[in-house]
Amino acid sequence: MTSERKILVTSALPYANGPIHLGHMLEYIQTDIWVRFQKQRGNTCTYVCADDAHGTPIMLKAQERGITPEAMIAQTKIEHMADFADFNVDFDNYHSTHSDENRELATMIYTRLRDNGHIKTRVISQLFDPEKEMFLPDRFVKGICPECKSEDQNGDNCDACGATYSPTDLISPRSVVSGAEPVLKDSEHYFFDLPAFSDMLQTWTRSGALQDEIANKLAEWFETGLKQWDISRDAPYFGFEIPDAPGKFFYVWLDAPIGYMGSFKNLCDRRDDLDFDEYFKKDSTTELYHFIGKDIVNFHSLFWPAMLEGTGFRKPTGVFAHGFVTVNGKKMSKSRGTFIMARTYLDNLNPEYLRYYYAAKLSSKIVDLDLNLEDFAQRVNSDVVGKVVNLASRTAGFIYKRFDAKLASEISEPALLAEFVAAGDTIAQYYETREFSKAIKEIMALADKANAY
Ligand SMILES: [Zn+2]
Repeated sequence: MTSERKILVTSALPYANGPIHLGHMLEYIQTDIWVRFQKQRGNTCTYVCADDAHGTPIMLKAQERGITPEAMIAQTKIEHMADFADFNVDFDNYHSTHSDENRELATMIYTRLRDNGHIKTRVISQLFDPEKEMFLPDRFVKGICPECKSEDQNGDNCDACGATYSPTDLISPRSVVSGAEPVLKDSEHYFFDLPAFSDMLQTWTRSGALQDEIANKLAEWFETGLKQWDISRDAPYFGFEIPDAPGKFFYVWLDAPIGYMGSFKNLCDRRDDLDFDEYFKKDSTTELYHFIGKDIVNFHSLFWPAMLEGTGFRKPTGVFAHGFVTVNGKKMSKSRGTFIMARTYLDNLNPEYLRYYYAAKLSSKIVDLDLNLEDFAQRVNSDVVGKVVNLASRTAGFIYKRFDAKLASEISEPALLAEFVAAGDTIAQYYETREFSKAIKEIMALADKANAY
């Protein structure tokens, strides 16, 4: 290969308060297939990830279990890494956002943003749990929906009627943490001045870095105007303290994407052939891609590129969003028994079956992927077992039984061989553009021809 590319790839960081499920696995399998393809093409491709280890839910869950957050995230990381390894997801590095590298980078990025005038402060009023003495994130407040009067609804939206509102609009609100009635309390918050990057973002989001459907969606946001982004949370909070603001912490979503850099930095410190600055300097000729779910597009397509721009780093080459996994046409559900953990699957089935099924249905579009369990069994049996594996197995049998375990000295059907070789470029193009379902279709058509032969 003449023009070797240098590519850094990430998958979104799984949150360290629970196990990996088959919905998560779609993204790691999609990314892993793409990374393996790049490596096989001779490119220098590096795949990093990490556990997303900060925030209120992790702090509270650790308290509930009577352990420290540090102990909880260490245990979760071991479980996550085992799930990924057993699904053959081959990271070059798997780190944690609760790391020295991430603390240093988050502090540096915040300090540069502040010194460049991109951090603003103002006092805001939020619901506060007077018993637990903590501010309550929206999802930790419940009450009666102000619209349809359904009981036990979340602080930001109603499951019954779909209304969205502020937690202060709830009727008879209570804290999920203590059950106490929350009170309004003032606090000074730190904001990232996102509107200052509006022009840059409007150009970047149309640069080809994003899928069209995302760029179109963001265009609506630019029309209504971007808002400043609240990047601070008050103690008690599990995260990194803001350097010049005692008792204030970086919001988990500030240091999560920086976690991509932190994981790569951690790897570079152990590898002579990788140079952190070469990949993240402003005029870098390397490529940087983020694979993400459609629910976190705003963090990766607005806040993150603006933070990088505001601190003199390069921006991503591409952000690739995918849809969600449904099972038998419906949202994964614990009550229907379709909320399947990665470990449950691994205890019962071969990981390659799911990798094949996801690959056979994935495209570059942001559409949900249905894991239909009957279709899954049928496709694995007919395509993987009956077609590809059977081809190798039967051929090996013929060679041993009929031809004394010797191959012929010449190709009997050179035209057929040429056809197979020629298909390589098309298949490679499908992998490159994340049209995995088209690649699989081509490969299976070739397998049919080989079987006929
Ligand atoms: Zn409602």
